[in-house]
Amino acid sequence: MRTTTNLVTELKTVRPRKAVLEMPEYHPPLAGRDALRLDFNENTFAPSPKVMERLRAVTGEELTKYPEREPVERIVAKHFGLQPEQVLLTNGVDEAIHLMCVTFLDADDEALISTPTFFMYDVNIKMMTPHLRKVQAGATLEFPFERFMAAITERTKLIIVASPNNPTGAVVKREHLLAIAAAAPHAVMMVDEAYYHFHGESTMKDFATAPNLIVARTFSKAYGLANLRVGMLAGNAELLKFVRKTGSPYNVNGVALACLPAAIADDEYIAWYTEQVRVGRERMMNGLRELGVPFFFSHANFVLMNIGPKHKALVETMHTRGVLLRDRSTDPGCDGFVRITIGLEEHVTRGLDALAASLQEIEWVPTV
Ligand code: PMP
Repeated sequence: MRTTTNLVTELKTVRPRKAVLEMPEYHPPLAGRDALRLDFNENTFAPSPKVMERLRAVTGEELTKYPEREPVERIVAKHFGLQPEQVLLTNGVDEAIHLMCVTFLDADDEALISTPTFFMYDVNIKMMTPHLRKVQAGATLEFPFERFMAAITERTKLIIVASPNNPTGAVVKREHLLAIAAAAPHAVMMVDEAYYHFHGESTMKDFATAPNLIVARTFSKAYGLANLRVGMLAGNAELLKFVRKTGSPYNVNGVALACLPAAIADDEYIAWYTEQVRVGRERMMNGLRELGVPFFFSHANFVLMNIGPKHKALVETMHTRGVLLRDRSTDPGCDGFVRITIGLEEHVTRGLDALAASLQEIEWVPTV
């Protein structure tokens, strides 16, 4: 007889797709983040007060409705000087990456990334194809342009490059990005500009000359909306039409859609927050020089430090002092590296003070 018990036993034997069994998992250390959050490259403060105002005005009726993305896509497109068909709002760049992979990658296609980089590329690509080519950066962690170009093949279908990159903070020159796109006209090239505001150079003005270029932007970082989950893909309308097919029409929730126009309209807030980060980043890098901690020059809202064998002890000690850092030592080529997020001036001060005290407490000495 088919009882509930043996039904459960039978279900245990159900296997996912082979690709899912084999793909890596991404589990960011999310538990217990009630401290100064210098671990996830979030905005360390709050979004624009105009966003908070809109949020407070959300009505019960608004919550009962399925979200309508298109009117907000029109507003966002206008803001960025694009046509509405050139913009697709997504549930964060995380979903944008997922949709790009689902839309463009067949199982025998190749995808190309450099490492170290944002791990979600790996996860989403492997979901679709085992043919992921990774080009490892050298010791400086600068983008390995020549070797990357050489890794393009006729089977390359999707190329993803983050600029500024996470966790390195390195940027890829615009000419280099365009050269990659031009060298692979048979592939889609996604430039992940999640950290755009902290650098200022974009390939969003190059869509006319690079028809295979798609740019991803997030509202999680400078705009401070990580919890609302909203990002975007911008670029060739023909390509985005395919991506639109693979996603849900309700992928971005209505609260995020209600707040987004207020967020992008407040230029003054973005200018203020990014200036805080730019100044804070200089202070952090100078502070690290004074402490003798080697680091990688950053163009983003974080700095990657080379702590060496005591990386774990540093992260733990900082935690006891109420400051969260992100251990990146398991990233390729990052053994002993720890990342610290740059936020408001006072947060940088607290971060630096806690770093100085923690390094002393763990009796850290430079290893390089
Ligand atoms: N791209 C990069 C390079 C990132 O570092 C992150 C967040 N850590 C994301 C995308 C994801 O952004 P979102 O919150 O929009 O999903």
